[in-house]
Amino acid sequence: MALNLTILGSSGALPAIGRFPTSQYLEIQNRHFLIDCGEGAQIQLARLQISIHKIDCIFISHLHGDHYLGLMPLLFSMHLHKRSSELHLYSPAGLDEIITLHLKHSKSALNYKIIFHPFTPNKIQTLFEDEALTVETIPLIHKLECAGFLFREKVKPRRINKEKLVDGMKLQQIASLKTGADVVDDSGKLLYRNEDFTLPPRPSLSYAYCSDTAWNESMISQIACIDLLYHEATFMQADIDKAVETKHSTTVQAAEMAKRAQVKKLVIGHFSERYKDLNMLLEEARAHFSNTELAMEGVTFTLQD
Ligand SMILES: [Zn+2]
Repeated sequence: MALNLTILGSSGALPAIGRFPTSQYLEIQNRHFLIDCGEGAQIQLARLQISIHKIDCIFISHLHGDHYLGLMPLLFSMHLHKRSSELHLYSPAGLDEIITLHLKHSKSALNYKIIFHPFTPNKIQTLFEDEALTVETIPLIHKLECAGFLFREKVKPRRINKEKLVDGMKLQQIASLKTGADVVDDSGKLLYRNEDFTLPPRPSLSYAYCSDTAWNESMISQIACIDLLYHEATFMQADIDKAVETKHSTTVQAAEMAKRAQVKKLVIGHFSERYKDLNMLLEEARAHFSNTELAMEGVTFTLQD
């Protein structure tokens, strides 16, 4: 099973011609998540032919406008398209108030229910957990309370080694082997040793989304050795003073974070509108961490397990 991350927008706070503010669409374990929802996110979803009905959960990192101002139009579109299933919304406190105020003054009642899950950004918290997946917050350092999100697949079941199956095995026994158990008879005698008939589980995939943040030493252990890291790189290293002042990161800091945490791949984004040629940012990051890509809109990063 694959993890697919599609970039809907990756621009910083001010408008940049041809670039949308931050939003990402993540498909993992048959779940469909929206991560941040900058202005125009629903336009990008439509352009990329991603159905808004699929989205189960929306995760908002913080309440700076470039990370959530696309949300209200999306919620109204879901209503107009007669959505009926519940929508889970994870964000720092306050977003429920903002949405409720919009609905109150437009005298609207949505067809579907929004379940609000406010969280405290400055501590690690598990927001979501099912049989296959967890999502936890990553406390970040920013002008406003802000958290990233760590999506992590749980350990997968062992795989049946079909070549080793023998005649006479019952379906129930094969199902039992899949769970990792040995098969024994009624008297407790071993019939089939699990490791003789199964292969190890496929690797569990992991993705960390980190925007917006200043250099954040404390998250290194939390994201250690993950498969994919999205880290903001609002500025080039020459503008580090600006990064410090606004509590954002530079390309070199993002690359250094990827290196220190020993992640497999880095994607950088949240680019300042001052940079017209993003390849300069890519080159600067790659000089410190070679497996780096730009979060270009419309691009899907796929990880196979
Ligand atoms: Zn921000």
